[in-house]
Amino acid sequence: MLEEDLEIAIKVVVVGNGHVGKSSMIQRFCKGVFTKDYKKTIGVDFLEKHMEINDKETRLMLWDTAGQEEFDAITKAYYRGANVCVVAFSTVDRDSFLAVENWKRKVEAEVGEVVMVVVQNKIDLIDKACMTPDEVDTLAKNLRLKLFRISVKENFNVDEVFNYLCSKFLNKRARKQKELTEKQTTIGFSNGTESVPETKTKESTVLGGSNGTEDVTNSNGGQSFQIKPTKERAKKKTSGCIVL
Ligand code: GDP
Ligand code: MG
Repeated sequence: MLEEDLEIAIKVVVVGNGHVGKSSMIQRFCKGVFTKDYKKTIGVDFLEKHMEINDKETRLMLWDTAGQEEFDAITKAYYRGANVCVVAFSTVDRDSFLAVENWKRKVEAEVGEVVMVVVQNKIDLIDKACMTPDEVDTLAKNLRLKLFRISVKENFNVDEVFNYLCSKFLNKRARKQKELTEKQTTIGFSNGTESVPETKTKESTVLGGSNGTEDVTNSNGGQSFQIKPTKERAKKKTSGCIVL
């Protein structure tokens, strides 16, 4: 099977204080709905969404925290292997805005550098905002994060967040693969071998496996996670999947 045929799995984590709209955002993006009384627990570890990004079949796994963020008890399993991250705060909750830097630090402490954005949700409530637009711009600039102002309620700018993150991640991944290929080519020539070595190595196909292979896509120290087959997934015929 060609590597191009494999589906790329991207783990997305959404962090931020409680009630900023994380669960609503994930649900909106995956199912296109907004539920006012959305329950704290969604009953599953993550929701999935299939997308075609940069001509690549991509499976996004969006992890929800089921409300543990209030108790500061989010486990390492939640962050492990995250490829991209949304740090969210609410327009009407100043504490959640002040907590953004902490959330960023926390994620980076667990997974290293990931593709990350900061999201100001509930922009529909801008009249009751607890921070000025300048403050928000300054924070994003200082943290070097791209800022999205969104309203999950009005379905404003939500898709853009995930499209941006995934596209950026795939570009980064492609760049790293290219670098690796170039490195392998150089090594091949310096060995005095006539032919250019195979570029499609096991390392570049099985990404971030727990078998000690180098993770070329993720700068999170080679951490990876395995997707446990649910009953449904086990039944479903899949075309193969790269676990990042
Ligand atoms: P979480 O604790 O971060 O997962 O937040 P939830 O998704 O549970 O949302 C908390 C509350 O904010 C719920 O009552 C949502 O209906 C509400 N909410 C979420 N997004 C928006 C939004 O864009 N605008 C408004 N006005 N309310 C929102
Ligand atoms: Mg929630």
